[in-house]
Amino acid sequence: MHGKGGQIAIKGEKYLALLDKYGVFEGVNFYGEHLKEMLAGDFSRPWKCLGGFKFLYVTAAGTIQWCAQQRGVAFDLMSATPERLQTNNVHKPCEAGCSLGCVRMVSHTLGEPLKTFGASVKLAIGMSKPKAKACSPDQKTPAPV
Ligand code: SF4
Repeated sequence: MHGKGGQIAIKGEKYLALLDKYGVFEGVNFYGEHLKEMLAGDFSRPWKCLGGFKFLYVTAAGTIQWCAQQRGVAFDLMSATPERLQTNNVHKPCEAGCSLGCVRMVSHTLGEPLKTFGASVKLAIGMSKPKAKACSPDQKTPAPV
């Protein structure tokens, strides 16, 4: 859903209709209205990205970044302290139009726990439901439609 820099890469009625019909993944419920606005081209709703503070993106080299798309702020994982992480508890210049679902889910859940309580309950109920059984090796893969 996002392009380079984390900004939403799609917009328009077509995608709004697809979202309405199929949804995305449960995590989107934490910012569902905002996603609809972004798909309509409106990036004005404020929010706070907790990347680098409550959400940590750790690279193969062992550095912490705000997220996979923003590499400007990076420091060694082993030097992370609560105080160092706290310095990332700031508004980011790339928040408007950001559609990095994993960071947004964590940011809305932990940053706005009361506002997102309903989405948290929905997610917890969904996780507690029995999962569909995996195919056994002797079952044939269904033909593509
Ligand atoms: S707002 Fe946060 S998650 Fe989105 S691109 Fe910027 S740093 Fe990454």
